[in-house]
Amino acid sequence: MQNNFDTSYASSLTDPLAMRVYTSQLLGREEDLVLHGGGNTSVKIDGVLYVKGSGWNLQSIEKEGFAPVDLATLIDMASLESLSDTQMVKQQREALKKSDAPNPSIEAILHAIIPFDFVDHTHADAVVTISNTPDGKERIEKLYGENMLIIEYIMPGFLLAKSVYERTKSIDWNKLDGIILLNHGIFTFDNDAKNAYDKMIDIVSKAEDYLEQYSDITLTCKGAEADRFMLETLQKKVSSLRNRAVNVSIINSAQACTLSEHKELERIMYSGGLTPEHVIRIKPFGAVIKDDVLDGLFNFTKAYQDYYVTNASSKHQRLDLAPRYAFIVGVGVAVFSIDKREEKVISDILTHTISAMLKAESLSRWTSLSPSELFEMEYWELEQAKLQKDTK
Ligand SMILES: [Zn+2]
Repeated sequence: MQNNFDTSYASSLTDPLAMRVYTSQLLGREEDLVLHGGGNTSVKIDGVLYVKGSGWNLQSIEKEGFAPVDLATLIDMASLESLSDTQMVKQQREALKKSDAPNPSIEAILHAIIPFDFVDHTHADAVVTISNTPDGKERIEKLYGENMLIIEYIMPGFLLAKSVYERTKSIDWNKLDGIILLNHGIFTFDNDAKNAYDKMIDIVSKAEDYLEQYSDITLTCKGAEADRFMLETLQKKVSSLRNRAVNVSIINSAQACTLSEHKELERIMYSGGLTPEHVIRIKPFGAVIKDDVLDGLFNFTKAYQDYYVTNASSKHQRLDLAPRYAFIVGVGVAVFSIDKREEKVISDILTHTISAMLKAESLSRWTSLSPSELFEMEYWELEQAKLQKDTK
């Protein structure tokens, strides 16, 4: 991965928040690091943590996109026995130094407990691809050695922050190169913005080189045009499942087509996504269309209902039964979206996920989050609260 840090431009930046904006944008512009609102960064200045606010993308973030939160309050929160994510968001808001700032990232406590000024967090494709295999932890350990702190998957939010807090109580932070959250992403940190950024690029480049060396994707097809009648039927049926008009677009790259023809497509697709938050955009799995559109959609809605019933409790409210995408065997993937923005988000996520799945399958096997972990994220209390507000 290319290091895009421009020393002469950076030397014109006079304050740490401006530096924070600059390297955050550098990270955000790299699609193999973060996509559409993924990842977050922070800087500590005079007892205040400036952390990415929700609703901002790293790619286009500006100073006002960073929420200033009282650092000591956040560190105290990490030592609480328990805290719901709703309570956490409320307390983080109360600790804001500026009342019109955006909500601090749900990862704010984790940023606060890392004792360095600049903290960078991304969902780097290459690192999560290696981690999303049955022996991913061993591979990551071997690749990065003992100075990388490796944390098993935990739902992002208070529980993840608390777990890192407990694990690092007696650790010498100066010896750490970074933190890898299995099936999720990576953290780097330093008191210098450039060093934190350089560490991210170096660690990710190492994973990219590893994949280059050990994974070898054999493309089995080039991608083909989808049948017009099939697309019309899909458009009509998915619109009715979603209760609003959807557009259908096709990704028929060689990689998408190759995965659509994979003998074990279903096993791969049901084994979780690239990084946890993607489930909110594309659901835990999609549909598979072999010959018959109606069969494919029926199988999807049945599988989604089973997933819901198995994992839900009475406090949950079920989301719609419309797939966000469907593999069309021998063609590629159909994307279902309500507008251009959603089309871009889903298409980008799928393009990166398909590539990661093929690489992981070539290393050993793709396996990411379990259905219950996916459910926990898709039906996260904060997302459900938004929904209940919408329907009131
Ligand atoms: Zn994350």
